Amino acid sequence: MKPDSPITAVSLDVGGTLIEPRPSVGHVYAEVAARHGVRAADPAALNRRFREAWRNKGDFDFSQAAWFVLVRQAFAERAGELPEEFFPAVYQRFTEPDVWHVFADVIPTLDALATQGVKLAIVSNWDERLRPLLANLRLHSFFEAIVVSCEVKFAKPSPVIFELLERRLGLPLGRVLHVGDSPAEDVAGARGAGLHARLIRRGAPAIAGEQLASLLEIPALLGL
Ligand SMILES: [Mg+2]
Repeated sequence: MKPDSPITAVSLDVGGTLIEPRPSVGHVYAEVAARHGVRAADPAALNRRFREAWRNKGDFDFSQAAWFVLVRQAFAERAGELPEEFFPAVYQRFTEPDVWHVFADVIPTLDALATQGVKLAIVSNWDERLRPLLANLRLHSFFEAIVVSCEVKFAKPSPVIFELLERRLGLPLGRVLHVGDSPAEDVAGARGAGLHARLIRRGAPAIAGEQLASLLEIPALLGL
């Protein structure tokens, strides 16, 4: 990091960076479907089709209507069996903390940074469920600023969502490090707006200047 622009705030992505669905999206879909009379939906097949639908989602606006289409794509030929109550139930299910895993490096890193007076923020492409979910996971109180695409109407990699972060933190973006798991949304997006950025890839080797193998590397990166 450049000594002439000390990093005093860290901004984090949420999905794939702080948390991931547990055991998987497909397992949660199958569990809720079974409660609504659609038996033996295969989690592995649901995951495969969900990933494919997610990859091809294009200009996804994180609205309930957009999620409705995606969920039905995951069920493919069985979507016709899903009763009307299924979608609201599965949508709600993802605000509950037990279907999410908080990665093991998250709380120790947030604690260490907060103790050192580093300001913490979230910049996430998510919908209206993010704030209740963060509260349910007891993560929300770490963050001074939470910028959610559905609220601000701009999604990463747009520089606008990061400029809103600047206003909420009251800090120039050159003093903020953003960390996330998407090379396009998190790294290119943040750098395009003038932030420092690193990709998190747990289990992969750390690459100096580019990639972290654990969030626990962040304090040292800030010279703490
Ligand atoms: Mg992510």
